[in-house]
Amino acid sequence: MLDHLSFTAPQPKTIAGAKGDWELVIGLEVHAQVASNAKLFSGASTGFGAEPNSHVAFVDAAMPGMLPVINEFCVAQAVRTGLGLKAAINLRSAFDRKNYFYPDLPQGYQISQLYHPIVGEGEVIVDMAPGVARRVRIERIHLEQDAGKSIHDMDPTMSFVDLNRTGVALMEIVSRPDIRSPEEAAAYVAKLRQIMRYLGTCDGNMQNGNLRADVNVSVCKPGDYERYQETQDFSHLGTRCEIKNMNSLRFIQAAIEYEARRQIAIIEDGGTVVQETRLYDPDKGETRSMRSKEEAHDYRYFPDPDLLPLDIEQAWVDEIAGRMPELPDEKKARFVKEMGLSEYDAGVLTAEVENADYFEAVVGGGETGGRDGKMAANWVINELFGRLNKEGLSVETSPVSAAQLGGVIDLIARGDISGKIAKELFEILWAEGGDPAQIVESRGMKQVTDLGAIEKAVDDIIAANPAQVEKAKANPKLAGWFVGQVLKATGGKANPAAVNDLVARKLGM
Ligand code: ADP
Ligand code: MG
Repeated sequence: MLDHLSFTAPQPKTIAGAKGDWELVIGLEVHAQVASNAKLFSGASTGFGAEPNSHVAFVDAAMPGMLPVINEFCVAQAVRTGLGLKAAINLRSAFDRKNYFYPDLPQGYQISQLYHPIVGEGEVIVDMAPGVARRVRIERIHLEQDAGKSIHDMDPTMSFVDLNRTGVALMEIVSRPDIRSPEEAAAYVAKLRQIMRYLGTCDGNMQNGNLRADVNVSVCKPGDYERYQETQDFSHLGTRCEIKNMNSLRFIQAAIEYEARRQIAIIEDGGTVVQETRLYDPDKGETRSMRSKEEAHDYRYFPDPDLLPLDIEQAWVDEIAGRMPELPDEKKARFVKEMGLSEYDAGVLTAEVENADYFEAVVGGGETGGRDGKMAANWVINELFGRLNKEGLSVETSPVSAAQLGGVIDLIARGDISGKIAKELFEILWAEGGDPAQIVESRGMKQVTDLGAIEKAVDDIIAANPAQVEKAKANPKLAGWFVGQVLKATGGKANPAAVNDLVARKLGM
């Protein structure tokens, strides 16, 4: 299905240091909030922006004696995500306690899956340019709980805790260190987001923190990465630093760039990079140390005694697999293959699932069973998206529905209106709404295909302009002037091809 893509070898970003070239190596741990109404181990709501501490079940607040109960829907969402990344689904996984103290973590531990994650190895096809892609390997996806939120800026002397987010299900998606440039890192996160939004397993809202990434960065000498690839031996790679909690594609790229240069400067200065967790400060454009490996928590992971290992059945996985929607890569390939769209246009139309749905609705319901894909793509991308962008709207809030736009395309296809009139019709639909065919009828916008009527208009113009006729006979290029006059006289409604023919014939060309 993806044979239209050409896969490129990694395109490492090279940074010239004072003492030679360096290459970047990047691996991402993406935290994606599971799209679910209830939390991972409680029935409390996951609603965003509620009154603090209003969505907290006893188990979320870690009241004594409360036991977690796994939410089957969240497990299904993780399985769906795994299938979407062509990953192995582990029929047995298990939950572990990751112990640490923090005021926003009332249990004193986070329930996670260290040793036996629910999803194993998979891959993400990252789009680098139209028709050019790269494979990034996925190491695992595990399910875990989110923590609550400490609020430090409400009172000068006190901090507050909001436990609404406590216990919300997260999927942690861990990549291999296969990403080689800031641009690839951003494209990788964008692709994950796109796939999960198609699947409906994560809403992908980065602003709300529903999708965020810990970015691991190291630098190495040219050739070292190839040695790592051959052997999978990490000692060929440099020491990495992890930049925590990034929720903007732009900042991810800036942070990687800064961090790589910082590491290069240290190494070239004769120092060594210390493995540590860092934070990116967008105001300064810098990363700074949060904690080094020595200060790192000893999480004392152990199997959570409150939860049995999670056994799922292959039949259940198959059932989920049977209900998978068409994913962006497949959809894009189909648009290219079956509709003859360009790789670029297909990419634009499939970028957001809502856009793809809109486009398919425009193509789908034609009078003849399916409208022309290229024509529909042209209208959706150039007219609709162009206009939506200008007004700051999205397809969900578009004043022109897919059915209305489809109606416009039908009118053009039938020869009832010209492309020029169609644009006027689009404007009317945008401003006033209504049924395209009815508007064309009631406002007399129908294209004149009645040859007799066009012929009369041509004759009138020729009769009224004898001097122009002489000039045109000497210089056939001037025939265009007559075509223009006829179109003007008919209010743009005459069929341009018919006008061209008639003018040429009457002028004896
Ligand atoms: P930890 O258990 O300390 O979190 P992992 O082995 O799980 O470490 O790796 C975490 C992330 O760091 C993964 O996404 C992995 O691809 C990435 N990573 C590992 N080594 C490197 C490296 N040398 N450079 C960049 N990224 C790396
Ligand atoms: Mg890890």
